[in-house]
Amino acid sequence: MNNYRNLRVALLGCGSVGAQVARILLEHEDELAARVGSRLELIGIAVRDVNTKRDVELPQELFTTDAEQLILGADIVIELMGGIEPARSLILSAISSGADVVTANKALIATHGEELAGVAEQVGAQLYYEAAVAGAIPIIRPLRESLAGDRINRVMGIVNGSTNYILDRMDRFGDSAEAAAAIASELGFLEADPTLDVEGYDAAQKATILASLAFHTNVPGDAVHREGITQITAGQIEAARKAGYVIKLLAIAERLVDDNGVEGISARVYPALISREHPLAAVHEGKNAVFVEAEAAGSLMFYGAGAGGKETASAVMGDLVSAARRHVAGGPGIPGSTHADLPVLDIENVETKYQIMLEVNDQPGVLAEVAGVLSEHGVSVARLEQSVPQDANGTATLVIGTHSAKESALAATVTALAASGAVSAVSSVLRVEGN
Ligand code: NAP
Repeated sequence: MNNYRNLRVALLGCGSVGAQVARILLEHEDELAARVGSRLELIGIAVRDVNTKRDVELPQELFTTDAEQLILGADIVIELMGGIEPARSLILSAISSGADVVTANKALIATHGEELAGVAEQVGAQLYYEAAVAGAIPIIRPLRESLAGDRINRVMGIVNGSTNYILDRMDRFGDSAEAAAAIASELGFLEADPTLDVEGYDAAQKATILASLAFHTNVPGDAVHREGITQITAGQIEAARKAGYVIKLLAIAERLVDDNGVEGISARVYPALISREHPLAAVHEGKNAVFVEAEAAGSLMFYGAGAGGKETASAVMGDLVSAARRHVAGGPGIPGSTHADLPVLDIENVETKYQIMLEVNDQPGVLAEVAGVLSEHGVSVARLEQSVPQDANGTATLVIGTHSAKESALAATVTALAASGAVSAVSSVLRVEGN
């Protein structure tokens, strides 16, 4: 061990993740010191209530409710409180006092990441947030460092474990949406208010972060197109299975060219069909995975636990060791990279295949009429399947798989199909992703 002084680490928050970080810091003190070249001294843990019983046993004298005072003496601040305020203000004051900051706070990075990175750059501090996307899975560092010399074309991820758990149960066990959500809730996969998960807000925050890093562009949260899984039915899951697909909630960041030849990016979250052959189709239960397509590297997949106190603490500790090594070695660290500044294109510019389900009157000429509407709008049919009429009115279900088409063409097609005399209802329109 060299003679470098102890590095002073302040921890803000001691919940599911914070308690595990504190435990690892104390239990593996010697090992971490050997890796870093300096001791990591946990100088205090800021919480709301110092008397709350914690998941792990920790020295009581470490606890304080005075987060502002605590960060003043720190070389590295780990923020694991969550929420926007006071986390944002505390991080800003930590950075301003010259400390490096490690956070797992996706909501904060998605909404204020640019501001925080800007202030950090001004004072030569570093902001680390590996745990903010996909928990234990290393994906921020690969995008920021390992792939920095490559050109990324697409990032497609299952980044919300709760919704993956629900969709996976519906697919593999034939559960209804309600039954799957009830089990997910019982097992602690869903928050008391599940809106953030099932409406896709959580995944959209992660899409913002992934798109910004992958395309060296600041992608604001409101530029991400978002659809959740609340409309997904057992019937859609079944139709997807019959056609060789599985439905997943995907966060996608993609390089695109618009109709005027302008290069931009698309950032979007929606439930989509994906081939059962695709690696993302094998992501079950509450697991996460991020599939990256890069020009030189080709396809890469990062897979693992997207949440959990211990698992997320692993990513936080990785960041802490990086920050500590930088302190020991000196040097400027890795600057933020938003130089490409690409426009974020509207969803209308996205081109995918679709699976459309229609309720049609089982009469002669119906197929020709439906095919006519599709071709009028430039959407060509790749696959068509008609069920036998299920009721006395002679209504049949038509499942149409299309070739690639622009979202704008699809929207016009669906409006025309709904207005067509042959169609009694457009019961489902889902995109098909992955090749
Ligand atoms: P948590 O269990 O709710 O713990 C939050 C901790 O922060 C608690 O110890 C709480 O203190 C403290 N805290 C909250 N507001 C505070 C304030 N104003 N002043 C001082 N302390 C305050 O949260 P978590 O699940 O560990 O999550 C922490 C962060 O990690 C969040 O940003 C979350 O999004 C992110 N994350 C979590 C996971 C996961 O699996 N849990 C995965 C990925 C990322 P008291 O205990 O005294 O109330």
